[in-house]
Amino acid sequence: MANTIFGRILAGEIPCKKVFEDELCLAFHDVAPVAPVHILVIPKREIPSLGHVEATDDAVLGHLLHRAAEIGKEHAPGGFRVVINSGADGGQTVDHLHLHVLGGRAMHWPPG
Ligand code: 5GP
Repeated sequence: MANTIFGRILAGEIPCKKVFEDELCLAFHDVAPVAPVHILVIPKREIPSLGHVEATDDAVLGHLLHRAAEIGKEHAPGGFRVVINSGADGGQTVDHLHLHVLGGRAMHWPPG
């Protein structure tokens, strides 16, 4: 039984609009987009947050970032932002590590 909604998506119990999948990760459109392009990239292994990664996760972290870059270039050729919220103060609401790939409009800085 999956612990989070993303685990249930990975298990096929909840549908998603898939963008990319391989043996290590799944990418899909966010259900409540905050930009014209808003895609989530998640590891298939259930890592709760960026604050939980260990040295053995280095390869999967590099893979996720590389996939996010490829997805960003393809879906938001004008430029994109990759965000990882971690923990309650970081704004994380789903306890399964995920990268937000945001694009399709100019981003603001600093983020809220
Ligand atoms: P966080 O706030 O944890 O960084 O981001 C969680 C993201 O997951 C939010 O942007 C939210 O809209 C998205 N989300 C939550 N539940 C679902 C779902 O069932 N399907 C999809 N596609 N996205 C979801």
